[in-house]
Amino acid sequence: MFDFIVVGAGLSGSVIAERIANDLEKEVLIVEKRNHLGGNCADCYDKNGILIHKYGPHIFHTNIKLVWDYLSKFTEWNNYEHHVLGHIENKNVPLPFNLNTLHDLLPPKEAEYIEKKLINEFEFGSKVSILELRRNDDKDLKFVADFIYEKVFLNYTKKQWGIKPEELDPSVTERLPIIISNDNRYFHDKYQGIPKEGYHNLFKNLLSNNLIQISQKTSFNDVLKIKNNEIFFNAKPFKGKVIYTGMIDELFNYEYSTLKYRSLKFIFETHPIEYYQKVGTINYPNDYEFTRITEYKHLTLQKHDKTTISKEIPEEYEKNKNIPYYPIPKNENYEIYKKYLKKANKIENLFLLGRLADYKYYNMDMVIFNALKLFEKIKEF
Ligand SMILES: Cc1cc2nc3c(=O)[nH]c(=O)nc-3n(C[C@H](O)[C@H](O)[C@H](O)COP(=O)(O)OP(=O)(O)OC[C@H]3O[C@@H](n4cnc5c(N)ncnc54)[C@H](O)[C@@H]3O)c2cc1C
Repeated sequence: MFDFIVVGAGLSGSVIAERIANDLEKEVLIVEKRNHLGGNCADCYDKNGILIHKYGPHIFHTNIKLVWDYLSKFTEWNNYEHHVLGHIENKNVPLPFNLNTLHDLLPPKEAEYIEKKLINEFEFGSKVSILELRRNDDKDLKFVADFIYEKVFLNYTKKQWGIKPEELDPSVTERLPIIISNDNRYFHDKYQGIPKEGYHNLFKNLLSNNLIQISQKTSFNDVLKIKNNEIFFNAKPFKGKVIYTGMIDELFNYEYSTLKYRSLKFIFETHPIEYYQKVGTINYPNDYEFTRITEYKHLTLQKHDKTTISKEIPEEYEKNKNIPYYPIPKNENYEIYKKYLKKANKIENLFLLGRLADYKYYNMDMVIFNALKLFEKIKEF
């Protein structure tokens, strides 16, 4: 009998399983419904031998030293720093919007004038949210805010979420930063990179302890059942602990209706040229049905005479058809989530972890941080 069962071999499940096996020296069973490790962080070589990220570009970035130090025990890094351009008014300009973007899109005198105002108001090197800038009384700053909103944000958001920005939780709009500097990097965290030997090897290293057994192509429902707040494993009461990283509504058979997600369709193309575009990702806020094109060789630093790109087309999530990528940040969804959470809290030996169980978008660093935090709690239990 296992001491712990972890549902899901994504980043959340893998980190907690690693801690349980290596620190507590307890046996863990991981059940994973896909046929690979790593969840949405997974990478693989395509048929041309080019390393791609199966579920879109994953760049690790964090300011949390604890998280960086932890993951660095299982991988070396390639020190990649992500650069994104936005295809706006037929030019490719740096994103997030910064002072270079301003100069690329506005006539020189106007750009200079607004740059001075931005620096005076907010100080060089700072980050301002688009919402804050839109609320500013200064008509020139408001003009810039509206310009960025229209050209960079509005159509991208409509494509990404399938709804207008106003219909989303304000936290989404508030997040979009404008950088008052000439730093063209997409992320500004202290620690950044992609595993030097790829994500697959990182996950293999995380899960290498013999105390961890992994059952792929196995769903929660195949081996576990919940009845009267008790968990059954292969039809027998399970007294160990279960860490669940799947969708919380699926766990309870969609009793309070399904939670809404946004999904993505990835179109991978290989081109017989060394490089397809100048940087890792180009966003297309206003043209085409896809939102962005990523060229993986920029991220992985792989040398190859061909190159593979992916185009990302947002679409509605449909059960058993595609993958639930992004929880939709709307109040009505959080209300349904709370009902599920209340139910989950009644089960003493059940612990929820990760983006699906928490119904919350997390970057990888927060996923690791939460897993390490949960591990400390479980240890005491
Ligand atoms: C397109 C895209 C790009 C991203 N880019 C970045 C980035 O650049 N940087 C960054 O920091 N973060 C990025 N992220 C976020 C990152 O993917 C997540 O933080 C991370 O993958 C979450 O890990 P997780 O284990 O919580 O969830 P998941 O990766 O979804 O793992 C959950 C696992 O559980 C399995 N599972 C689910 N239900 C069941 C069940 N019932 N039974 C058995 N198994 C089950 C799933 O198959 C999956 O393998 C990106 C996300 C997306 C969608």
